[in-house]
Amino acid sequence: MFVIICGKKVPIILKSGRAMKNTLGEFCTETEEISIKQSTPKELRRRTLSHECFHAFLHFTGYAYLLDDISANCEEALTRAFDSGMGNMLRYPKDVEEWINA
Ligand SMILES: [Zn+2]
Repeated sequence: MFVIICGKKVPIILKSGRAMKNTLGEFCTETEEISIKQSTPKELRRRTLSHECFHAFLHFTGYAYLLDDISANCEEALTRAFDSGMGNMLRYPKDVEEWINA
């Protein structure tokens, strides 16, 4: 599965709970991949994926660097505001939607 963010193909990798430790999702700035805990409850899948897509958006646009200059928590706060307010408005490729709704 993948999404296109800022014209870049970003893989979405479903990982085990052991691999994901204490988080449901993660965007890695080195590999530019989104990892999602496979066992994420259905009701949290769209919001979790939207959250990580927004982190990727901030990374690709360069805004993550500006937010880092303000505060270590600024990017996370902005990303949470996005996912809680608008994350449910994003739609994904068919295979991703099938996972979200499985
Ligand atoms: Zn986050």
